[in-house]
Order: sequence, then C-alpha cells, then structure tokens
Amino acid sequence: MNQVKEVKQRHMANVYRNAVKNREIMDYLIRMGVEMAVAKAPRYEREKLFNKINRMENCNKFWTTETHEASHIKLLLHTYLCKDKFCCNCKRVKQHVMENRYLPYMEIYRNLMYHAVLTVPACSGKKLKETIQHMAECFKTLVTYLNGNKIIQGINFGQYGYQGCIRSLEIKYNSDKYQPHYHVSTVFDNTAVIENKNINNMFSDNGERLFSEFESMLQRVWFLLINRQRLTYKSIFAETAEQDRYSCIIDKFEANDYDKLFGYMVKNLSEDNEFMEYDNFRTLYYALNRVRQIQGYGIFYNVTATEDDPDYTEQEYQDIADFIASDEPPVIAYEPLSRLAKNTTYTYLKKQYRRQGDIIK
Ligand SMILES: [Zn+2]
Repeated sequence: MNQVKEVKQRHMANVYRNAVKNREIMDYLIRMGVEMAVAKAPRYEREKLFNKINRMENCNKFWTTETHEASHIKLLLHTYLCKDKFCCNCKRVKQHVMENRYLPYMEIYRNLMYHAVLTVPACSGKKLKETIQHMAECFKTLVTYLNGNKIIQGINFGQYGYQGCIRSLEIKYNSDKYQPHYHVSTVFDNTAVIENKNINNMFSDNGERLFSEFESMLQRVWFLLINRQRLTYKSIFAETAEQDRYSCIIDKFEANDYDKLFGYMVKNLSEDNEFMEYDNFRTLYYALNRVRQIQGYGIFYNVTATEDDPDYTEQEYQDIADFIASDEPPVIAYEPLSRLAKNTTYTYLKKQYRRQGDIIK
C-alpha cells in the first residue's frame, strides 16, 4: 500500500485558491464585526469574531515540512486549519474525516442500508434557527418510535427492524428562502417491507415513483411531528389527510449517496449558483451556531467523528520516512503555501489518505 503520494502542483494551486475564496467570507465576518460595534455588542462577542477572522486568515497557509535537498523532495507534514464551518479548506477536510470515521461501520451493514431524505417547507431567514432546532427534536422523537422506546397503539414500528442511522443536515438557499432537509443513512433488517413500493400519491410525479407503506406513513408522521400534532393511529391514517404530508423517501443506499450524506452542510453558492450574499451568510452564521451537521443513532451512536485528531500515526510517519530512503537529515520548517505553490524545484509528498473501509474489504 502506498504510504505517501505526490501532491501535484495543480492541487497546491487549488488549495491556494481556496484561501483566496476565503477572503470573501472574511470580508463578511469583518462587516458583521462592524455591525456588532455599532450595535454595542458585548466585547467578548466581538473578540470571538475577530479571533475567528485571524484563524481563517492563517488557515492552511503554513505547513510543517521536511526538506530532503539532495533528492529534491519536500514532505508536507502538517498544516494548521481554522475549523470554521464556512472555511473552504476546512469544509473539505471535515467532510473527509467524517466519511473516514463512519465508513467502516457503514460497510458492515452495506446490504441493509437505505438512504432517506426528509424535508420540510422552505422558511425565511428569521425562522431558520428555530426550524432547524425543531427538526432536530422531531427527528429524535421519530427515532424513539423506530427503536421501540415509544409506541403508538395499533402501529407496529418494530416490523421494519430499525437498527440505527446517521443523520446529516443540509441547507439550500435562494434569496430569503431556506430549505433545510435531512439526508439519513438507515439500517433496516426487514428489506422486503421497505422495498415493497406500490402506493401512488402526491409526491409520485404522475406515477413516476411509487412509495412503500412505510414511506407513505412516514410522510404523514413527519408532517404531524413538525406541526406539533398528536401521533395516533387515527391522526396518521386519517382519510382527509392526503395533502398534509411532507416529502419523505427511502431508497436502497447507493454509492453516490455517500456524497449526499457527507456533503457540505451549506454550500457557498446559492441555488442560483451565485456566491452567497451577505444576508445569507449572516443568517446562516447565527442559525448554525452550535448546530451539529452529522449525528449517529443506534448502532452508529458511538462513532466519534471529530476533525480534531491528527491524521497520521507514529507508525505511519515512520513508514513515510523509510519510503524516502535517504540518509540526509531533513530540515524541518514552516512554509507558507503561497511559496510552495510557486516552487517547482521540489516534488511534494503528502501522507496517503486512506479510507478505513479499505482495510475491512
Ligand atoms: Zn479553515
């Protein structure tokens, strides 16, 4: 297995471009700081914001490197990341780390895994924070029915064989319209019931798509939960309720669903492909404060997924050193990425990113 890979000049230039893109985000943060000052916001809040700007300013710009002069090789060891959810570098890093942590667990259940999407109607920026909080509460409640901790008389939630799920929040936006929704990878033992689709309803798009009884029921359950109505057999299966449903689909988990599950919580581009406006940024900044994008339940509950851990072990580091097979002592230094991107004298090597899932196969 390869222990190091070459970092192409093109890749370096891309990373450098991210830093340039971050400028726009930093300009928005500075504008927020000015607004805070005008509104006489508490000093600690303003300081928090300016620390954030400083960290983003330096994000991924400096690497600890090992230089092997004779072989013209530079080994990139470690970079400093700001970990901000709007940072172009850190979003990517977080996405990879999360996927890497969950993948081995997901592989185990691959044949029983489904991809569910739960949506609610779009809301205004003013309502976004409370909508997201409420969705999280409703989702938690839904899980307590699926895992049998709560029951509804007359409905057998146990028949689906729910084992656990990974819930991921994504928000799309366009002017003052925000569309939060969940991508969920769920494990169900009873695949026959989940995959038996024969119901044609308002979400079917003229029969283009049929739903299972479970999906149809969830559309109604999700609506009732979000609208704070009581869940009973009667309210769920009420005849008059055909229109009072929110979209919910559950399909077999496909390879490209990983990208949806571990995609960005918020893209820097709106649905119109325009860079986010200041108002969008400000709304999302406050609405997503302390909001976790990805949460595991049941069999996935204990998967720790933070972006804080170092991404190589001592052993791996040793292997990299052997691979270089050079007697010359390395020169360890901080190097600004802008300089590395322009310097073509060296071949750049970085530890090979390995999916933990590869080991299981
Ligand atoms: Zn960053």
